[in-house]
Amino acid sequence: MIIGLDIGGTNIKGILLDGNKIRSKVQYSTKSKTNKNLLLKQIFRCLEILIKKAKKIEGIGIGVAGPVDFKNQKILNPPNVTALKNLELGKIIQKKFQIKTLIENDGHLMTLAEAIMGAGKNKEIVVGITLGTGVGGGLVINKKIIHGEIGTAGEFGHMTINKYGRKCNCGSRGCLETYLSESGIRKTSFDFFHKRIRSYDLHQIGRKGNQTAIEAWKEIGESLGVGLANIVDMFNPEIIIIGGGIACGAGELLINPAKKTMRKNILSESAKKTSVVLTKLNEYAGAIGAGLLFNQ
Ligand SMILES: [Zn+2]
Repeated sequence: MIIGLDIGGTNIKGILLDGNKIRSKVQYSTKSKTNKNLLLKQIFRCLEILIKKAKKIEGIGIGVAGPVDFKNQKILNPPNVTALKNLELGKIIQKKFQIKTLIENDGHLMTLAEAIMGAGKNKEIVVGITLGTGVGGGLVINKKIIHGEIGTAGEFGHMTINKYGRKCNCGSRGCLETYLSESGIRKTSFDFFHKRIRSYDLHQIGRKGNQTAIEAWKEIGESLGVGLANIVDMFNPEIIIIGGGIACGAGELLINPAKKTMRKNILSESAKKTSVVLTKLNEYAGAIGAGLLFNQ
């Protein structure tokens, strides 16, 4: 069996994968985003729990929220989980547990999982975007992750959609992430409600028909749509899959205005038909992708 672990800014999720079947799931809230020792201790504990559940573990796949030098198996500079900065996490885990370990960016993994087992199952060119503490993404062609030169391809969250826009954790301005991450959504909610509202609550009141909340989601969705149009003009994918906690929650309130803006901004008439759908594998997509790394 293979372990897939997804280390995010809010939660750590793990699964035991037996071929393409999920045998077990665990989830914990991330203890620290900034303290390396605390976070490492928690990662080890999660792995120990999963290892105990299986007879034999053949590999450990780890997804991290941030750019990864895939060739050298090193985490670079994750803007939202700074505890992992420059960490050779794969080597550390491999040494401790004596099990082959691979690390990869979480957006890549969500996209891989969807391309193999989810909404992109029968598609050749699949783009994924994850909306959570940060915004990540990936490009998978013929079931293979496209890494680029060192492994950082697909960081759609840091695509500039407004060069005079909000300041981003990465140091830049107007990145897609500053509008679509949890904190970005709270900022937009302030413009509409004069107080910060969690994406979950904004979704709840929007679903009940609150017009101000629906307007707020429309504005957030339009920002996503600008990003989607850029992606379609760049890669002309068959499908774009939107995942992560925020997308699973907000659903159509977010996706419908995003699609509308995307279609308005795309150059080619035929590319306007690119399908945009919500994740099928939901919150465990990243962890499943981490397990599937050993099929790559
Ligand atoms: Zn940024």
